[in-house]
Amino acid sequence: MSIDSVLSFTPPARQRWESIPADIRKRLMSNVWCGSCRHEVTITKFTGAIKGGDLLLVGKCAECHGDVARVIEGA
Ligand SMILES: [Zn+2]
Repeated sequence: MSIDSVLSFTPPARQRWESIPADIRKRLMSNVWCGSCRHEVTITKFTGAIKGGDLLLVGKCAECHGDVARVIEGA
């Protein structure tokens, strides 16, 4: 992932994200459901924040550039 993406995370979100092993992060980024494409896509240009104790990634679909999001629970 690019440094730009990490910099747009809030500090706690960034800490949470970086605690996830790289191979799992890669998988999390590459199987995000896109409601427009109707299949799993890669999330791009995303930001991260902690919401309700979960890590929330919000970004763009790599294929249609629509908004997509994924919640990473707990940790
Ligand atoms: Zn899409």
